[in-house]
Amino acid sequence: MYTIKNMMEELVQKYYEKIIDELNVCRCEKCKADVIALALNRLPPRYCVTEEGKIYVKLKELEIQYEVDIVAALAVAAYIVKNNMKHEERDCKDEI
Ligand SMILES: [Zn+2]
Repeated sequence: MYTIKNMMEELVQKYYEKIIDELNVCRCEKCKADVIALALNRLPPRYCVTEEGKIYVKLKELEIQYEVDIVAALAVAAYIVKNNMKHEERDCKDEI
């Protein structure tokens, strides 16, 4: 069973969870999705053909290679989301 997967998505999700505390941005579903989407737009896609279980080896290689870029892209994305609230404030009143 082979799947084509953009590994960058996995990594951005992972780093979002890792550094969300430092990003100082609303954590509601909408803002999270916006931050991740914006960060992904700033990063090159890295498609891999994966087999179950082998994905993590490749992921680790890419993580080492792109860690700095991913963190920077998330920081910029968080800044953009913070300054352009795309949803009504009541959607995330508990999280700001
Ligand atoms: Zn929000």
